Amino acid sequence: MKDNKKVAVIGTGFVGMSCAYALLNQNACDELLLIDKDTLKAKGEAMDLNHSLAFSPAEMYIHDGNYEDCADADIIVIAAGVNQKPGESRVDLLKRNTAVFETIVNPVLKSGFNGIFLIATNPVDIMTHITWELSGFNKNRVIGTGTSLDTARLRYLLGHFFRISPKNIHAYVMGEHGDSEMIPWSQAMIATKPILSVCGDFGELKKIGDEVKFAAQKIIEAKSATYYGIGMALVRIIKAVLNDENSIITVSALLESSYGASSVYAGVPGVINRSGVCDVVELQLTKEELKLLQDSFDFIKDTVKTIF
Ligand code: NAD
Repeated sequence: MKDNKKVAVIGTGFVGMSCAYALLNQNACDELLLIDKDTLKAKGEAMDLNHSLAFSPAEMYIHDGNYEDCADADIIVIAAGVNQKPGESRVDLLKRNTAVFETIVNPVLKSGFNGIFLIATNPVDIMTHITWELSGFNKNRVIGTGTSLDTARLRYLLGHFFRISPKNIHAYVMGEHGDSEMIPWSQAMIATKPILSVCGDFGELKKIGDEVKFAAQKIIEAKSATYYGIGMALVRIIKAVLNDENSIITVSALLESSYGASSVYAGVPGVINRSGVCDVVELQLTKEELKLLQDSFDFIKDTVKTIF
């Protein structure tokens, strides 16, 4: 592995810059490249971050640039996208975001980039699939943030409910990052104790599950966008790659046989290291949970069909 750890963030909006700011605060890389179609914005963001270096633990080379500068990046984060217009259908938005991704992935490939794509743009499972198709990269090297943020929200809420640190809660949100996502409660643990055996009242758990599902909507109503949580999730995944951690994170990975799936990107616990998603962890789901997960896969696959 080369010494210089380089991350490129494409799309310097709320999400891209929350990721950049978290990278800086966590001293997670040596070089940070910022790219946006609004080149002035990318320049201003690089200036602003550079002015915080004197107060930061990091010795980071931060700069704006263009697609040729992606050649030696280890990871490219894509957080660029267009927002839904009033009255625009989900499918039309998806088509516009596919066009945006063509203007990004093609020049990145032309630069000779040979690292890992990490996608945050929504609908994230589908945009990750599109990146995989456009890039022709091995599936390991195209990752979506998937249900990593939803899983963090679940762990936070369960931790709050049981008065246990979220770091000692082992529970996952799986499937689509969206309405069809599901929680395999049979696999949710506090340390090694099944949550279902600790909490007799499933109604309370269901309330927590609903709170996870509608969290983004609530935040958007309050402040128009969500970005700190996803920024931190992106950095968690980036560090797992750059430090070759073999950490398990619920990313969007291409499933070819796990959980009975075929050719669908969806949120599952994946083992993340220098090669990207090197493995998928298959949990022992109940029959009902597996059905919910497979329904979520079907929903994603049906949406992908509207593009290809
Ligand atoms: P934003 O509007 O603040 O930023 C988008 C940026 O993309 C803008 O700076 C814009 O100039 C840039 N852009 C647009 N087209 C481009 C192109 N062709 N090339 C380069 N740059 C381009 O939006 P945001 O709030 O940062 O959200 C970004 C995306 O992240 C959205 O799709 C949002 O839904 C998604 N998101 C995902 C999660 C998750 O869990 N995966 C969470 C929150 C937000």
